[in-house]
Amino acid sequence: MIDIGVNLTEEQFQGKELAVLQRAKEAAIQKMILTGSSVGGSKRSLEMAKRHPGILYSTAGVHPHDAKSYTEQSTKDLKQLLAQPEVIAIGECGLDFDRNYSEPADQYYAFEAQLQIAEEIDLPIFLHERAAHKEFLQVMKQHERLIEKSVVHCFTGDKEQLKAYLDAGFYIGVTGWVCDMKRGMDLREALAYMPLNRLMIETDAPYLLPKNLKPKPKSRINEPMYLPHIGREIAALMQVEEHHFFETVQKNTEKFFRL
Ligand SMILES: [Zn+2]
Repeated sequence: MIDIGVNLTEEQFQGKELAVLQRAKEAAIQKMILTGSSVGGSKRSLEMAKRHPGILYSTAGVHPHDAKSYTEQSTKDLKQLLAQPEVIAIGECGLDFDRNYSEPADQYYAFEAQLQIAEEIDLPIFLHERAAHKEFLQVMKQHERLIEKSVVHCFTGDKEQLKAYLDAGFYIGVTGWVCDMKRGMDLREALAYMPLNRLMIETDAPYLLPKNLKPKPKSRINEPMYLPHIGREIAALMQVEEHHFFETVQKNTEKFFRL
C-alpha cells in the first residue's frame, strides 16, 4: 500500500518518526509520500525522504493557507527542490476558501505560479481544494493539459463535485474523512460513483484520524498505519472486493507518481 499524503514533519510526530514508520511497515505500507505545504516544510520533507530511500518520497509546494508567503523566490526554491529525485510531485497547491488564512487574491497568485512551474516541469501535481470547487475548476481549466497528471487530494465534496472532477480528468485522493458518519456523508454517497482506476488513498496524517477506529487511539494522532482501515471503508462503499481494491489503487498510484 502507498499512502499518498503524510505530513511527517509536523510537530505531532517530532522524535517519533521512526516508530511511526515501523508501525506503517507492520501495517504493510510500503511507501509514503510526504506532503510539502510550504517552502521550508518541503525542504524538511525532502531531508526526511533522503534518509529513507525507496520508502519515503516528498512533494514540493505551498499550501493555499501559506499563499501570503509566496514570492518570486518561492518559485526558484521550489524548482530547486523539484530537481531532486526524491521529490516526485508539485504541490500541495490550490485554493482553500474554508478559513481564508491567506486572502483569495494571494491564493490565486500562489496557485497560478505553481501551475506555471508545472507547465515547465513534467511532474504530477498534488492539489488541494476546500470550499472552492467552482473557482478551482475554473483555474485548472485554463491549464487543461495539466489535469490528467493532477490529483485532487483529500477530496471531501459531494457527488456533483466528484462528477465534475472526473469529467475534467482528475485523479481523486480520499482520506479517513470517509469514516466520519456526520461530515463525511456527502463523500460516502459520492463514492458510489467513483471509478476505481482514478482513485488513490491517503491518511493526511497526523490530521483526520478516522472517526470509527476501534479501539480509539488515545493519542488522537492519525498515522499511516491506519491506511488499510480507510481503504477497507472505501472498498465497502464502492462495493469492490478488498484484494482487487488495494491492488488496483496501488497500480494507479505507481503509475501516477511514476514510482
Ligand atoms: Zn491538503
